[in-house]
Amino acid sequence: MAVIGFIGLGNMGGPMAANLVKAGHQVVGYDLVPAAIEAAKAAGVTIGESPAAIAAAAEVVVTMLPGGKHVLGVYGDIAPVARPGALLIDCSTIDVESARKAHAQAAEHGAASLDAPVSGGVGGAAAGTLTFMAGGEADAFERARPILEAMGKKIVHCGGAGAGQAAKICNNMILGISMIGVCEAFVLAEKLGLSHQALFDVSSTSSGQCWSLTSYCPVPGPVPASPANRDYQPGFAAALMLKDLKLAQEAAQGAGAPTPLGAAAAQLYAMMNAQGEGGTDFSGIIRMLRGEG
Ligand code: NAD
Repeated sequence: MAVIGFIGLGNMGGPMAANLVKAGHQVVGYDLVPAAIEAAKAAGVTIGESPAAIAAAAEVVVTMLPGGKHVLGVYGDIAPVARPGALLIDCSTIDVESARKAHAQAAEHGAASLDAPVSGGVGGAAAGTLTFMAGGEADAFERARPILEAMGKKIVHCGGAGAGQAAKICNNMILGISMIGVCEAFVLAEKLGLSHQALFDVSSTSSGQCWSLTSYCPVPGPVPASPANRDYQPGFAAALMLKDLKLAQEAAQGAGAPTPLGAAAAQLYAMMNAQGEGGTDFSGIIRMLRGEG
């Protein structure tokens, strides 16, 4: 079992680090927030002095941080002091360009690296059922696989540096667009006097079928576990959906990819956030579409 450094012990990183401890690894963690540190300690994580001190002692360092600037800042501290042959795995959701810079920082100092963002949310992090989408060299991926398997149930190698982030933002752009589409259909059904259950029964077995409908239905009733049944408590908060849609737009502009529906989805989620609903589940956008304030 390895000595694993874990930097960023927040809503996702805390339970992910706890699963590494459960798998028998020695986990040395770090965060800036005392509450995150206390929760990690209670889960069996040892707390290190600084990211650099952790990197100097660990064979593998996992980061789970808010954004690209945090990852590049931490990599600036850990890459120069990482042990020879160390493996750096960044699981944060960040822009593709920063992910590629982080790979370059690692390579400059002889460390192997992987961008490995996740889907599955806080529930998946706690249950150890996350999906990891990884970008980087095949060797780094094979070394990371058993570690990622302790935190997730599906691990996909998507390609070279940044490919994991590319997969993540493409997937979440589909999700944002499809959720708005499903919500619009329910709002139209309501105006036409069609019941939620009738639309669900038809569309869940017809060509309108998609995850936003069948697993995460934005109206209460048809899918009892969906956030609509608990007043749209997340789940996956609208603020995080907006973050991912903005990353997709940035990447699309940089790459010259036409994404008109992605742009419209980003605008609608920006509106929802501006209305103070960033902490609401992203399926709660149906209330904004209905004009409910
Ligand atoms: P969070 O804000 O709960 O956790 C981030 C943690 O990083 C915080 O505890 C913060 O104190 C810490 N941090 C920031 N800068 C640091 C530094 N320099 N050194 C050490 N610690 C530092 O966020 P989260 O929900 O855990 O999300 C983490 C990442 O996972 C984000 O990139 C997010 O987009 C992604 N993500 C989140 C979800 C979700 O449902 N929450 C799902 C998929 C992906």
